[in-house]
Amino acid sequence: MQVLLDENTLREGVDRLAQQIEERYRGKKLTLVGVLLGSVVFLADLMRRLTIPYGVAMISSRQMATEDNRPGHLVIHADSLMPEVKGRHVLIIDDIYDTGETLWELIPQFDEFNVSSVHSAVLLRKKGRQRVPVAPDFVGFEIPDVYVVGYGMDYRGYYRNLPYIASLSPEEMANFRENDR
Ligand code: 5GP
Ligand code: MG
Ligand code: MG
Repeated sequence: MQVLLDENTLREGVDRLAQQIEERYRGKKLTLVGVLLGSVVFLADLMRRLTIPYGVAMISSRQMATEDNRPGHLVIHADSLMPEVKGRHVLIIDDIYDTGETLWELIPQFDEFNVSSVHSAVLLRKKGRQRVPVAPDFVGFEIPDVYVVGYGMDYRGYYRNLPYIASLSPEEMANFRENDR
């Protein structure tokens, strides 16, 4: 495991994002929409840095039965913690932009809520992995194409509690045992 972004670096990055978000949304009706589960630590820190008023919503992904059995298909659940977002400026908050499929699937789903705008903020963006023509509007850090954990992000349910972000090598992932955590 190798530390990529330590606590101080993360704090500076979230501060920077909060400033950019405030500049963009000051005087507007903003609702942050966190994508569960990986974004919760980032969302909580961002919330404490923002000094403008905002609403908060949470949405979750679920495994959908698709023909090709592709996992992670994202839908906005009826039981999501979604307050009224009609006429509001939605800012989707996610931990990491990888292929972009998540945002690609999520953004059009806000149309039916009659929102004023939909944009996105991610803490991390992996280089060279994008597969869709939609990119995040606010990015904390660009990272290489490695698997990362910590600061809310997991590997098989572990490491979400790390206060920093670290990369796991393919070997570490292959050798993962519960007592390694
Ligand atoms: P995308 O839809 O952009 O391909 O993937 C975004 C989602 O995939 C992230 O929100 C996250 O849940 C998961 N993901 C992608 N790369 C990583 C990674 O390196 N580590 C972890 N823990 N999750 C990842
Ligand atoms: Mg995610
Ligand atoms: Mg995960």
